[in-house]
Amino acid sequence: MRSKFIFITGGVVSSLGKGLASASIGALMESRGLTVTFLKFDPYINVDPGTMNPFQHGEVFVTDDGAETDLDLGHYERYTHVTLSKDNNCTTGKIYNAVITKERRGDYLGGTVQVIPHITEEIKSNIRKLANGVDIVITEIGGTVGDIEGLPFLEAIRQFKLDAGRENALYIHLTLVPYIPTAGELKTKPTQHSVKELRSIGIQPDIILCRTDRFLPKEVKAKIALFCNVDEDAVITAKDVDTIYEVPIVFHKEGLDEKIVEKLNIWTKSPDLSDWETIVDKIKSPKKTVTIAIVGKYVDLTESYKSLNEAITHGGMANDCQIRHLYIDSESLESDADAEEKLKDADGIIVPGGFGNRGIEGKIRAIHYARTRKVPFLGICLGMQLSVIEFARNVAGLENAHSEEFDPQTPYPVIYWMSYWRDQENQLQKREGAVPMGGTMRLGAYPCILSQPSLAWDAYKQETIHERHRHRYEFNNKFIGTLTQSGMTVSGKSPDGELVEIIELKDHPWFLGCQFHPEFKSLPRAPHPLFAAFIKASLENTRSKTTS
Ligand code: GLN
Repeated sequence: MRSKFIFITGGVVSSLGKGLASASIGALMESRGLTVTFLKFDPYINVDPGTMNPFQHGEVFVTDDGAETDLDLGHYERYTHVTLSKDNNCTTGKIYNAVITKERRGDYLGGTVQVIPHITEEIKSNIRKLANGVDIVITEIGGTVGDIEGLPFLEAIRQFKLDAGRENALYIHLTLVPYIPTAGELKTKPTQHSVKELRSIGIQPDIILCRTDRFLPKEVKAKIALFCNVDEDAVITAKDVDTIYEVPIVFHKEGLDEKIVEKLNIWTKSPDLSDWETIVDKIKSPKKTVTIAIVGKYVDLTESYKSLNEAITHGGMANDCQIRHLYIDSESLESDADAEEKLKDADGIIVPGGFGNRGIEGKIRAIHYARTRKVPFLGICLGMQLSVIEFARNVAGLENAHSEEFDPQTPYPVIYWMSYWRDQENQLQKREGAVPMGGTMRLGAYPCILSQPSLAWDAYKQETIHERHRHRYEFNNKFIGTLTQSGMTVSGKSPDGELVEIIELKDHPWFLGCQFHPEFKSLPRAPHPLFAAFIKASLENTRSKTTS
């Protein structure tokens, strides 16, 4: 079969869950035996979101090939069987960069380079590139219809249907249908306006997804169909759900996948959603509850820890328990007494990844509490580095030990700036200068060899694992002897033995720090082994608390 194309746009307001809708459509297509891939267009000028503040933009998701991408790619991977790469996320900046590079090279032979056709052609070529042997390419356009910066993308997808043929491309538009309590009515006007806007630039949606808090009655659907010029059964209720993993099931019940394959004229096997039913059942009928403290910086914005929150939920699913998240701003942990007070209810503690000086000592206090009070602990990337620092200072007697990131003059740089590193192709790269600059991060999947016996081995039960990285600083091997003699173990290393990837502590029920980000690879149908093991240990901690 030649590839078919689905385009997803959003209207009325942002944050309606376009990413989740796209991911769920992918899941539904897979449930019918089709293969899918995704493309997310982000209409901002940054070449990638790597340099953007997660406070504004949410988490930076990292792919196997080391691309720093929009967090929606995380949803796409969690909902389907795809492994994404740098080609699956594309910003305005990346498009212009490519066109300007071609212009400088003389590729346009002196022609005037314009938004139409050059920018739109570059956008379309990014879509076509993905059509390689896959049944359906799902393209999500970031932002909301009506935004100035989204226009070239919308124009490109308008043209795309003409190029690809009517039966090969489909437009799905996500809007909001608010319920106004004072009027006791669902309002369709915002949807009408948003579709009008889309049609004014030449795009007639085939299917409208209506985000709402209740199922749309037939009359409301009929009204939207009439005003927006779509079939009545192409108006789909995208109802709020208890868990995000219910979205594919709700869409299916509304007939979305049936309508898509009808419109695209594809013959498929009947859908099998048993995987999703099992996942939702597991989430909705937990037998136990466990409280996990997440000690971080952007804790008030769960968007910045999207994959982490999902991975914790998956860890809960693996243990038939639900998670009570306890978000703690590390800056509020100003003393050991604060840590005692704020962490007393935590059955397990996570210190996630992060950059910058803010709240570092508070995170170290939380780690100190976890170590000394024997509370299960998972340190991710920065969390691992800080657990090495805490141990160096308070157990190994290396006073004022630190990471060169935070104290370049520290007498004991247990975490340091390596002057060389190996890239994903195992080539030796030199890091220039003392100041970390762009392009100096270790990014993407790297192999790691586990040793046994260890908590890591117990979790993964295999020798070689591949996990994703996003950091500049590394464990300093100069201190490995001192630290291991004091009771730290190194249970995961790079294949050449040069890089420490996992540390653990003896005399503790479950304490593990990893230099990589396991959360990026956790799936609802395959919870990540480290999260599953960490939640299990936290659950045992609850039990020991209640029995003692
Ligand atoms: N800031 C640390 C580093 O660059 C950790 C990064 C992270 O947690 N992702 O090494």
